Amino acid sequence: MDYYELLGVPRTASADDIKSAYRKLALKYHPDRNKEDGAAQKFAQINEAYAVLSDAEKRAHYDRFGSAPGTGMPGGDPFGGMGGAGFDPMDLFEQLFGGAVAGRGRRGPARGDDLETEAHVTLLQARAGEEIEVTVDRLRECDHCHGTRSEPGGKPPKSCPTCHGAGAVRGQTRTIFGVMETQQPCPTCRGEGQIIEDPCTVCRGRGRTLKSEPVKVKLPKGIDEGYRIRVAGMGNEGPGGNGDLYVHIEMERHPQLRREQEHLIHTARIGFAKAALGGQVTVPTLDGPQQVEVKPGTQHGELHRLGGQGMPRLQGRGSGDLIVEFEVTVPKPSQLSPEAREALHAYARAVGDEVSEKHEGLFDKVGKLFR
Ligand SMILES: [Zn+2]
Ligand SMILES: [Zn+2]
Repeated sequence: MDYYELLGVPRTASADDIKSAYRKLALKYHPDRNKEDGAAQKFAQINEAYAVLSDAEKRAHYDRFGSAPGTGMPGGDPFGGMGGAGFDPMDLFEQLFGGAVAGRGRRGPARGDDLETEAHVTLLQARAGEEIEVTVDRLRECDHCHGTRSEPGGKPPKSCPTCHGAGAVRGQTRTIFGVMETQQPCPTCRGEGQIIEDPCTVCRGRGRTLKSEPVKVKLPKGIDEGYRIRVAGMGNEGPGGNGDLYVHIEMERHPQLRREQEHLIHTARIGFAKAALGGQVTVPTLDGPQQVEVKPGTQHGELHRLGGQGMPRLQGRGSGDLIVEFEVTVPKPSQLSPEAREALHAYARAVGDEVSEKHEGLFDKVGKLFR
């Protein structure tokens, strides 16, 4: 399915060409006007094509890669089958035509808003794919009026005198396509069809109240910073259904391990004697401290890999590694005892390394005075 072919324009078409081609096709295949088989599908396709080609950035991406952008990883929904960002052809159509081609009453009662929150996740929680809990303030049906918006036992709502309960009023609008029959929400009752005479005292006639609620979120194994998880139906409640909750993941820093995607890195500081002669260091792994061998002759910056002891791969099998990065340290003069200093001199003599005998720091001189 080539977007340019769908709109019947060449690849070099200008933004105006694309817009005008889209307008013609959109009107031709609009489900209100075209009842032929496949028209609705065609309408959705040309809308999809236009959504991409009318956006300079998306178009450039499409020209280069032959696909629409926006299914990227961080920030997107990496766990397929969640629906992703809802693309509704009608929204685009109404955006471009300013809602002039109305009259179908497509929009039912409003769905509750989506909500967003963030969750702080530790490496251990991410590795195990734990179920965590976040607290969300959601609009939920009012307990007092059960969403009816009227005070229980008070005056019942009355039918709207302007629209006689229909919720909408008809009118005509002049557009570039001629005069069109429109249907607009009734201004008196704002599309409700009824007027609340005695609003609920708890929600003040809104039908919903804000409630703080714990929400369980199952973490996919290996989840990382920048991802978000959709929890269906845990947004605000609305007459047309609930919105969704989007949980943005923020990773808590581990004091001794840093994460690079599926790998964990630990910097192990070792003295140069240990680096030269070999020994052991204790490495903090996610399963507890572990002894790691330092091979004789280990150089500064050398890596030691603990295979499979990193984080689970988010999309794929197995786990990354825990990488130990050796940092060989050299003592400062103040850290050298007289014995250590003498031993170093002996070492220098043994390997024929010329060192300065009298180069002592001020600190050492002062230290000597009080010894
Ligand atoms: Zn209420
Ligand atoms: Zn009305």
